[in-house]
Amino acid sequence: MEKPVFKRIVLKVSGESLAGNNGYGIEASTIASIAEQVKEVVAFGVEVAIVVGGGNIWRGIAGTAKGIDRATADYMGMLATVMNSLALQDALEQIEVPTRVQSSIAMQQIAEPYIRRRAIRHLEKGRVVIFAAGTGNPFFSTDTTAALRAAEIEAEVILMAKNKVDGVYSADPFKDPTAVKFEELTYMEVLNKNLGVMDATASSLCMDNNIPLVVFAITEQDNIKKVVLGEKIGTIVRGSVK
Ligand code: UDP
Repeated sequence: MEKPVFKRIVLKVSGESLAGNNGYGIEASTIASIAEQVKEVVAFGVEVAIVVGGGNIWRGIAGTAKGIDRATADYMGMLATVMNSLALQDALEQIEVPTRVQSSIAMQQIAEPYIRRRAIRHLEKGRVVIFAAGTGNPFFSTDTTAALRAAEIEAEVILMAKNKVDGVYSADPFKDPTAVKFEELTYMEVLNKNLGVMDATASSLCMDNNIPLVVFAITEQDNIKKVVLGEKIGTIVRGSVK
């Protein structure tokens, strides 16, 4: 019997990874495949919380470039994450995975408010909890949300699902043919080398709270399961000790 190495995880799904090959919006087959992968690990008894991004619909920074006030553009980005969260909830419930969406911005008709203790209770009951609307604050990212929620619910690891790369590289592998993939890194190295894993706020939060991060490709079926079963794929980022 395969045994998971983690009891409670936070899965960070970027908005982009829901868009599949389209690059924009939500691709039905892609979201269904992510839901299937989540179902597999829930079946192992792993408690799964998911933080969903919004970049496939709206990014605050892009809005600012169009002349929209940064805070307003960021709130729009948070609303985008709510749409993605509802889509992911639907995909999970279609395959009979009980799921709750908790939003950091009050939206009582469509989601529960974020209540830490309640989220933990859902997880203990085997429900997947999707954290929507980021941290609820502009000027932050959903990577920071993943770090914050992981610390709050005492998750053992953050699984960062990517759809273009299969780990952390020394440079952009699509632009630089000499780019090499790292197997292991420390948060300090990520910060010092300015590696584009997650933003500095998220990296510092993970470092301060000693939360390891696994960066891997979600485009390959079974990858979430592989990480949960302790197989070494992608790149692992840890606190100070390698
Ligand atoms: N956002 C925010 N505060 C948060 C989380 C997200 O303001 O706590 C906004 C921000 O504008 C961001 C957008 O929501 O650009 C979408 O989130 P993100 O860019 O992290 O999504 P991803 O890159 O994972 O798709």
